[in-house]
Amino acid sequence: MNKPQNRLKKLPKVDLHLHLDGSVLPETLIELAKHSGSELPAWEPEKLLPYMRVEGDCDSLAQYLEKFDFVCAFLQSAHALERVAYELVKQCAEQNCRYIEVRYAPQLHREQGLTVEQTIESVLRGLAAGESEFGTVARCIAICLRGHSREQNLEVIHGASAYLGRGIVAVDLAGAEAAYPPELYTAEFALAGKLGLPVTIHAGEAAGAESVETAVLKLGASRIGHGVRMKGDAEVTELIRSRGIPLEMCPISNLQTKASPDWDSYPLRGYFDAGIRVTVNTDNLTVSGTTITKEYEALRDHLAFTDAELCAIVMNGAEAAFLFGEEKRSLCAKLAEELNDWLTETVS
Ligand SMILES: [Zn+2]
Repeated sequence: MNKPQNRLKKLPKVDLHLHLDGSVLPETLIELAKHSGSELPAWEPEKLLPYMRVEGDCDSLAQYLEKFDFVCAFLQSAHALERVAYELVKQCAEQNCRYIEVRYAPQLHREQGLTVEQTIESVLRGLAAGESEFGTVARCIAICLRGHSREQNLEVIHGASAYLGRGIVAVDLAGAEAAYPPELYTAEFALAGKLGLPVTIHAGEAAGAESVETAVLKLGASRIGHGVRMKGDAEVTELIRSRGIPLEMCPISNLQTKASPDWDSYPLRGYFDAGIRVTVNTDNLTVSGTTITKEYEALRDHLAFTDAELCAIVMNGAEAAFLFGEEKRSLCAKLAEELNDWLTETVS
C-alpha cells in the first residue's frame, strides 16, 4: 500500500527558500557544543528542540526570529558551517528535493574572526560535498540583514559577487521587516544590480503590499520571499502577476509568524488561481518543525491542491530557480519528466 504521505514524499521537489541556521539538527548542535566546550541548556535532542523550534505560542515574526540567536552562537567556525550545510543537503535529499537554494547571512558567523569570504567558502564546501554525495543540486544565497550597517551589507554584496557562478546565485534581504522598510537598502541593492547579482527580498511577511512594491521597483527584486501580505492590494498583486515575479511562499512558517492568521485566509490558493507564479518552500526545517513534504501535504489538505496542481507548483520552483542557460534547462527538463512519471504512477 502506497500511503498518501509516501506518495508526496516521492514527489520530486524544489526548495528555493531555506535558511541554513534555521535548519540545524539538534543532534548536530549538541556535538558542536561539545566540540567547542560550550554550555547548552539540555544535552538530549528532544529536550534541546524547544530552544530551536517554535511552539504554539509564537505570535510574530520577531518571536520566530529569536530562535536563530540560540543556534547562531554555535555556527562560528568553518568546520561548523561546512557541516551544517552538508547535512542540510542530506535532509533535503531525503525528502526528494532535486534542487535547493540555501541562504544564510555571512555577517552572523564572524564572531570568531572568519571573513565574509571564509564563511561563504565553508558553506559552499558543505553544499558541494552534499550535492556530490546525495545528488540534490545545492546553490547558495547570501543574505544582507535589516538592522545591519550599510558597510556590513555592502561587504556581503561584494563577497557574494566574488562567488557568483561558483555556488552563489543571488543576494537577499532578511530580518525584522516591520521595523526596517526596504527603501533603507537601495544603495546595497543598486550595487548588487551593478555587479549582476540576482536579488530576492523578504517582503510582505511582516509588512504590507508597499514593502513588496518597493522591493521590486526600488531594490530590483526578481523574486519575493513570502509576499503573503500583499493580499488585498490589487495594484501590487497585478504588478507581481504581470511581471511574472515568483513568490517564495513558506506555508507552515507563514502561519507560525502570523503573516496569515489561518489557512482560510492564507492567500496561496488565490494567488495560484490568479496566475501568480507561486513557489512552495520550507523557510526553516528546524525552527518551523517542517519538511518540504509536509508543506505539500498542507497544500493538499488545507488548500485542496490536486496532484496536477502540485506538479505545477514544483515546476514554478524549477523555473524560478536562480540558474541560467543549460543548468536551468536541464533542471526543468529533468523535473518535467519525473513529475510526469509521478503523476501517471498508479497508487496501489
Ligand atoms: Zn526566510
